[in-house]
Amino acid sequence: MSHDHGARPELPARARLTPRRRAVLKALDSCPGHFTVVDLYDRARKVEPRISLATVYRTVDLLRHSGAIRPLVGADSPAYVRCDPHHHHHLVCIGCGAVQETDLCGAPSNAELKRRHGFSAQSHEMDIYGLCAACS
Ligand SMILES: [Zn+2]
Ligand SMILES: [Zn+2]
Ligand SMILES: [Zn+2]
Repeated sequence: MSHDHGARPELPARARLTPRRRAVLKALDSCPGHFTVVDLYDRARKVEPRISLATVYRTVDLLRHSGAIRPLVGADSPAYVRCDPHHHHHLVCIGCGAVQETDLCGAPSNAELKRRHGFSAQSHEMDIYGLCAACS
């Protein structure tokens, strides 16, 4: 299953789509696998040369809230991936940087967490690092 599902990244419904934010969305469209805010900034500047890094950071925040992108857990530098809202985890290739989605999930069940720890789980995050089929 490829991570490139073709869905257009969207801002939260109430966020205004300014030309500069549009440049960030365009840049996001061309981003492969995972990326950093600076990667996104470099791409957005080619579309909209006057864009500032601060604008890119703010747009990234908006995109996180809409669920269009998600931070990768355990990456060395803060990195993001484009995401679908359905439940899935990421297989991140440390060789080529490709990110695949998987619906396999090894997280403990809510019932088990409740029973063993008295903990009420709401969500969990897990990304798996290794080598993709092409790199291994
Ligand atoms: Zn994803
Ligand atoms: Zn790879
Ligand atoms: Zn899961």
